[in-house]
Amino acid sequence: MTYKNFPMVPRVIFGRGSFNQLNEILAPKRLNMNAPFIFLVDDVFKNNVWLTSRISLSYDDKIVFISTKEEPKTSQVDELVEDIILMSKERPSGIIGIGGGALLDLAKAVSIMITNEGEAKDYQGWDLVKNPAIYHVGIPTISGTGAEVSRTTVLTGPDRKLGINSDYTPFDQVILDSELTKDVPKNQWFYTGMDCYIHCIESLTGTYLNAFSESYGEMALDLCKQIFLEDNLSTIDAQEKLMMASWHGGMSIAYSQVGVAHAMSYGLSYLLGIKHGVGNCIVFDHLEEFYPEGVEVFKQMKIKHNITLPQGICSSLSDKEFDIMIDVALSLEPLWENAIGNNWKKTITREKLRDLYQKM
Ligand code: NAD
Ligand code: ZN
Repeated sequence: MTYKNFPMVPRVIFGRGSFNQLNEILAPKRLNMNAPFIFLVDDVFKNNVWLTSRISLSYDDKIVFISTKEEPKTSQVDELVEDIILMSKERPSGIIGIGGGALLDLAKAVSIMITNEGEAKDYQGWDLVKNPAIYHVGIPTISGTGAEVSRTTVLTGPDRKLGINSDYTPFDQVILDSELTKDVPKNQWFYTGMDCYIHCIESLTGTYLNAFSESYGEMALDLCKQIFLEDNLSTIDAQEKLMMASWHGGMSIAYSQVGVAHAMSYGLSYLLGIKHGVGNCIVFDHLEEFYPEGVEVFKQMKIKHNITLPQGICSSLSDKEFDIMIDVALSLEPLWENAIGNNWKKTITREKLRDLYQKM
């Protein structure tokens, strides 16, 4: 048995208003006047002076606003890298991602592709990155994905949706300021929050479970239950706790794996462009047979927060389209192995997945 020796985020700052310290955190990391900091910011903040006025731009520093209408693509990463190289006199001092899982993943991927030859799609997989990334900072503005702490950056490429999993992917610095999440719309808060809840359930019930993952998973699960089921939390408490739940949920899957909901949700995302948070919810709602307790509690949370999930999204798909989703889902072997065990292929057949997709 060989054990994974995995890197962690070396520096993290936590606290409401800690975003104010961004400029002093970055200053010592500036390489020189010609090496800018590039801020990749969710365009939901484009006219948000409360946030952008606190990013102080010096020399050639730039803010690039990015739409999250679609999830990050390998081609988008390649274009961003090319633009950054063209607009900078020298290799940038750092990339700072400000936003949800999408922006965090883009910042990680761009920082890797600035120092590695070729195209982002060449690095989708495990440990294919050869050179260390440039300095990169993650600042989540919505909580749940765990992208702020994970060793992957999930990208949709020409052939598949798969992460760039590498030792160079994790951020060098993370800023956890829950105040940045204060204006997240309610449905999105639930969907991205449930991503964290589902990470916990998939990790804690998986065959890959170990004491490392279990301890983080249990902490995150307990926080999710407080946030989504109890009435006595203040808004600020709930925002701070969800930020830490996301972190611990991410740590839990770092040393184990996700499961059935993620495998099938990747299929929905690849074919139909359904986003990760809501896609996971749509799938998880139908997974009683795999996660009986987890799904029961999920349904309680859904009712408590008056969430109606999209229905019938697969109702008019062709055989060929079902096949594409099934191929994507089945290709994620470690997820099935974690969820079901070594013999997963005996029970997880194409017909089984088609039946499940047809319910969604
Ligand atoms: P997201 O980044 O698309 O953000 C969701 C929505 O919330 C967007 O419309 C965004 O504009 C909006 N938003 C974000 N912050 C806001 C704020 N403070 N106020 C108002 N609106 C705000 O979605 P997400 O659920 O955070 O992340 C999903 C992405 O993360 C997917 O691309 C998925 O593949 C990826 N992901 C990555 C990992 C990883 O470990 N790298 C893990 C899970 C998911
Ligand atoms: Zn997830």
